[in-house]
Amino acid sequence: MSSPSLHLYLLSTRLIGEMTSNIVIIGASYSGLPAAHYLLKHAPESWTITLINPSTNFYFNPAAPRALVEQSILGKNNADLFIPFLPKLEKHGSRFTFLHGKASAVDTNSKTVTVALHGGKGETGVTYDHLIIASGANTSGGTGKEWGFKHARDGNTEEIVANTRAAVKAAKKIVVSGAGATGVEFAGEIKDFYGAEKEVLIISSSEELLPQVPRTDVGASARKILTKIGVKVKTGVKVVEERPATKGVEGVVELVLSNGEVLSADLHIATWGIYPNTSFLAKDLLDSAGWINMDEYMRVRGTQNVWAIGDVTHWGNRKLTTVDGQWAVAMQNILSSINGGGEEVFKKYVHSDELLMAVPMGRRFANAVVFIKGWKLWGVIGWLLKGRTYMIEAARPVAEGIVTSGRVKI
Ligand SMILES: Cc1cc2nc3c(=O)[nH]c(=O)nc-3n(C[C@H](O)[C@H](O)[C@H](O)COP(=O)(O)OP(=O)(O)OC[C@H]3O[C@@H](n4cnc5c(N)ncnc54)[C@H](O)[C@@H]3O)c2cc1C
Repeated sequence: MSSPSLHLYLLSTRLIGEMTSNIVIIGASYSGLPAAHYLLKHAPESWTITLINPSTNFYFNPAAPRALVEQSILGKNNADLFIPFLPKLEKHGSRFTFLHGKASAVDTNSKTVTVALHGGKGETGVTYDHLIIASGANTSGGTGKEWGFKHARDGNTEEIVANTRAAVKAAKKIVVSGAGATGVEFAGEIKDFYGAEKEVLIISSSEELLPQVPRTDVGASARKILTKIGVKVKTGVKVVEERPATKGVEGVVELVLSNGEVLSADLHIATWGIYPNTSFLAKDLLDSAGWINMDEYMRVRGTQNVWAIGDVTHWGNRKLTTVDGQWAVAMQNILSSINGGGEEVFKKYVHSDELLMAVPMGRRFANAVVFIKGWKLWGVIGWLLKGRTYMIEAARPVAEGIVTSGRVKI
């Protein structure tokens, strides 16, 4: 190359380099993964995407209550439940970068995210023009243990799911504490699969199961189904302490209840307690419980070009249906912003706390309760919607960026 053309080449690559802008996404689940696919498709070619996540698999956690009990739902090589998401994203070539690890800090002044790389491989930093926080929430398991109801903190979800399934298999007497949808489904799945082999007790601090449902007859129906299949139900009482069983007592743990009763069990799985994955953010971006403070345009309050979607936001009603509505508004507004628009063209997010819930308790036809926008529907609908296959067929299209969890085309 002659020197004037080399000069031109260097100048043009420098200009292209300077013109490239980067969107960083923290979290690759129902919020972050569709965002990466959507922006790679719809943002101008000069925009690159950097995705940060502790694992390279998409985990279809709604099926966890069954996957933690029986292997068959995971498919061959677990491939129906843990789906590698990189192959489809890497097709975008140099516009896409994956950082395998966890965001450990965000500096909104220098617009930099610090990432602790997976496997103790040190730290790196990445700058952003726009940042999307989609780091979600985890269940604390009451005592801080991870059971696999959500992606694991360090990306080893597959191992944790296998360990829980093995622990369930080995235990004879199992106590599930927490009677939200997760606890009710899980107790039902264990008893339905193992039958008389296992003694299963569900404990709820509320007077009725499924306390988040505003109609107690829904929880009462769940109690009836669980009782019918042989699950014991204890309500209006809490587990206040879990301790190793004293010598000579049958079982591995002792559970002290708020009414003074002490129970022994081989396995206690707490399904209550949810906490936000926001430890890498400055406290002034969070509400008092640690969720991200949002404005109606899906921007993080007090920042510039920082957005958040899904469970991690302060909005609540942490469900896939909620994620989808937030995702759609955030995507439109980010694109508008990239194209030079502002609040005058932004869409507003309107939050709804309306519940849509299908709670199966095992595989059997009609052993389910359904509550949709104030209506209690027939159990058979719960079986059709969820209990039959646990919606596992919906996992791959999300993992591969075809649709969102609410089946919106990407
Ligand atoms: C057992 C169970 C069953 C459920 N079933 C249903 C159902 O049937 N229907 C329904 O509507 N909802 C259901 N939900 C709720 C649903 O799972 C959540 O609404 C959904 O997972 C939220 O998606 P998200 O992408 O916002 O966050 P998450 O799914 O929590 O994903 C966050 C992602 O960010 C990653 N991450 C976390 N911290 C960092 C970090 N520091 N750096 C980088 N990445 C990070 C995580 O590894 C993960 O990949 C269920 C929840 C549970 C627990």
